Amino acid sequence: MRQTNISIFVPHYGCPHRCTFCDQRSISGTQSMPSPDDIAATLESQLGGLRESGTKAEIAFFGGSFTGIERGYMTSLLGTAYRFVTEHPDVYTGIRCSTRPDFIDEEILDILSEYGMTAIELGAQSMNAEVLRLNERGHSPEDVVRASELIKARGFSLGLQMMTGLYGDKPEYCIGTAERFIELKADTVRIYPTVILDGTKLGELYKSGEYETFTFDDTVTLCAELLKMFGKADIPVIRLGLHASREVEEKMLGGVYHPALREICESRIFLDEMSAEMKRIGGTDFIVYTDPANVSKVTGQKKENRSRLAGLGYRFEIKQEKGTRLRIENAL
Ligand code: SF4
Repeated sequence: MRQTNISIFVPHYGCPHRCTFCDQRSISGTQSMPSPDDIAATLESQLGGLRESGTKAEIAFFGGSFTGIERGYMTSLLGTAYRFVTEHPDVYTGIRCSTRPDFIDEEILDILSEYGMTAIELGAQSMNAEVLRLNERGHSPEDVVRASELIKARGFSLGLQMMTGLYGDKPEYCIGTAERFIELKADTVRIYPTVILDGTKLGELYKSGEYETFTFDDTVTLCAELLKMFGKADIPVIRLGLHASREVEEKMLGGVYHPALREICESRIFLDEMSAEMKRIGGTDFIVYTDPANVSKVTGQKKENRSRLAGLGYRFEIKQEKGTRLRIENAL
């Protein structure tokens, strides 16, 4: 069975916060507030195709702080989504939203529950208090803990989102954030390396030279580690890196943005494992057995793994072996 999200972007124009990285309209790629009729039209138009292909979908309200928008507007959107979930349960299996940790309390959870919300994602961004302060998030790590515990206690699926490379951030803080997410028993995680957009506070800091974010290579090393940590804890990372968007590309001043970022990070994991295993086995020429699905990750983007291993004096040829993640032997 295939699973997808029908994403509905709801910009938060009245947001009282000014997070350093946020230019909401660019991130969401839209400038208009969807009406209940717009949502109904979108869900209706997708219905036939989803049913035909046997795909189940969650209706996902993203783009801002869903539980912070005007209450009557929020419930009108939820009412429409809930109607599709109840009328077409063979296709629309649930509703999810993203919001701020300090926009969660028992009362809002009652409302979300009434409208059939299944998963709530919190933009935690960091569990380091100083990073949150420097980036003017307006909430604390304790708010994330409190909201996460409430969400879990009420039986919703808990999603936690983190950013890497914010103003004042360090790779070890990001590792600490991942450790806290694991302790909080997140059901899903999203990782967003910081993209510095023109027109934001981060953009100003970047232009003035006061802020340097992590390099691309440091981000790949870090995110590969984060993927390993969440993998070990059995927590799916459902997104790594911002979705491709023309507006983001046009407004981007710096930071890390690459359409194949996840693939590159997964390749890095293969690189680390291969170099450790080749060192352990000894020798210079190897055969690497792997499933056909992994071949491009073993080789690396632009054959990067091949050239990095060559730099260590290792050469290898790949033999495809269905079902094998990675097995290495000396070449005779
Ligand atoms: S990131 Fe969210 S909370 Fe922060 S300014 Fe943007 S919309 Fe508001």
